[in-house]
This record gives sequence, C-alpha cells and structure tokens, in this order.
Amino acid sequence: MHAPRKPVLIVGSVALDTIETPFGAVRDVLGGAASYSSVASSFFTNVRMVGVVGEDFPREHLRLFQEREIDIAGLRTSTGETFRWSGYYEYDMNQAHTVATHLNVFETFCPTIPAEYRRTPYVFLANIDPDLQLAVLDQIESPKFTIADTMNFWISGKRNRVLDVFKRVDAITINDAEARQLCDTASLVTAGRQLLAMGPKMVIIKKGEHGALLFTPDDYFVAPSFPLEDVRDPTGAGDTFAGGVVGYLAFTDDVSEENMRKAVVYGSVMASYTVEDFSLNRLARLEHGEVLVRFAEMRRMTMIAE
Ligand code: AMP
Repeated sequence: MHAPRKPVLIVGSVALDTIETPFGAVRDVLGGAASYSSVASSFFTNVRMVGVVGEDFPREHLRLFQEREIDIAGLRTSTGETFRWSGYYEYDMNQAHTVATHLNVFETFCPTIPAEYRRTPYVFLANIDPDLQLAVLDQIESPKFTIADTMNFWISGKRNRVLDVFKRVDAITINDAEARQLCDTASLVTAGRQLLAMGPKMVIIKKGEHGALLFTPDDYFVAPSFPLEDVRDPTGAGDTFAGGVVGYLAFTDDVSEENMRKAVVYGSVMASYTVEDFSLNRLARLEHGEVLVRFAEMRRMTMIAE
C-alpha cells in the first residue's frame, strides 16, 4: 500500500455477545462496535483503539487485535464485567432484536485519550453512549475528519446527546430504521436531508442487505451490498462497514466526495465478509487480497454503459 496513510482513532463498545440467528447460536463471543470497526479499519491503516473491558474479558481476544497491529494502549481493563449484548435475528436479518444490553464497565467509563493519540487526524466514534462520544471529541485536537455512529438504544434513551454529537462531526452513519426513528419520516431521502441539516457534511444511511445511501449537500450515491447467498450472522455489519469507510479515507487521506464513494464501497465489501460467520471469525481469517477482489467485483456489478 502507498503513502499517505494516516492513523485512525476508534472509540466504542468492546463486548461479549450472545447471538441467535436461523443458522446457529453463540454465547459470550467477541463483539462490540469498536472491535468490528477497528479490525475492519486495520486492513487499510494503523488503528488506535479506545474502550474498556472487564476483568472477565478473555485475554485471547486481545490476540486478534494484536495480530491486526491495532494499538490497544487506550483499551482499559476495569474492575467489573465486560459490556454484554444479546440478541436474535429471524430470516429478515436486517432487523436485530435486542434481548438484553448490560453496559457493565461502560457505565462508569470515562475515556481518557492518551496524549499521543490526541492529534489523530481521523476519528471514528463507534456506537456507545453519546456522552462518551462527546467526551472523546472534547479531547482530540484539530482532527481532519470525524465520523460517528449510533443506534436505537441511544436514540431512545439520550436523543439530545445523540443530536449534540451529530452537530460536532463531519459525517454520520445510521441504519435505515434508526434514521426513520430519529427523523419521524417514512422517506429515507427526507431523513437524509434532515440529518444533513442537523450538522454533518455527509450522512450515510445503511440499509443492511440493500446497501448504503450517501448524502452530501450536492450529491447522492448508492452503494449496493455485495450479493451473498450465505449470511450466517449480520451482527457487526454496520460497524465493519463504518470501519472500512474511515480506514479507506485515512489510507488515502482524501475526504473528497469522489473518494467518499469509493470508501463506501470498501465499507460494503468489508461488511460482506463479517456476515459470513459469527463474531469476528471471518474477519480474523480475511486476507487483504480478498478485499481487493470483491471491490473489483462491486465495481463491475455497478457499471452502466454510456
Ligand atoms: P451492528 O454493526 O449494528 O450489528 O453492531 C453490533 C454490535 O453492537 C454488537 O457486537 C454489540 O456488542 C454492539 N452493541 C449492541 N448494543 C449496543 C449499545 N447500546 N451500545 C454500544 N454497542 C452496542
């Protein structure tokens, strides 16, 4: 890979997930928004991860982060239990049904960004309490590009704080149901425009297996999802997508609208691998060459003759 390649700072949940899909069930496996997005980003650039785990967090999970050369100096271990999420999916795997969310060590977590991370040019505020996302924004110095994600849990519980985050970042990612919930509209085009009016310069609405919509003040772009016949577990697809987007932007150090389109397609490619297996299992055995192959296929699939 070539220069200019800039690092990415990622803050978000690191979790133990219990998941059931029509294709299997797993208990207390590695999950969390920061885990998926950091591993996805690491295929493009250097990643600095900020989060917290409990004393029960299996050390072997750290190995995956280390193998991907993710800097985990900002991943704290606190007294208590690791964040846990449990949920299930039916055949419509675009819809996650949450059974339980236990914030555990995240309840008292106060992120301290190590001094050497504060000038990281690319920042991804992955899904976590918007108060923590704001605390991170307060500590970073003149970032080049900030992007934030959220979910229904926080939109219902801390709507105004989510909106405060949106006011302060360059871009947001949000899924279709959450965009409708937040904007109180059936139309995703209306939601995209409303979200832009809230502050960010770019809005990406994720539509699961139906791809992603990119809104900017002057442009609109649609990236399909990579067509797969075997989807085993969609957990983490959105985080992987966002990690791929910010990783590619940092790798190219180019936040133009044109490059954003490519980043969105790379995000879709990364997410397509995550959903092929439970937890981060597929990402853990993914080769960089596979990313390039699917990107080329996506380009071919979406070409329209003159
Ligand atoms: P997604 O990309 O939307 O499928 O994100 C799935 C990941 O989000 C799972 O691995 C969960 O551990 C994590 N998660 C679920 N609920 C929350 C929450 N309220 N805050 C932060 N992370 C969460």
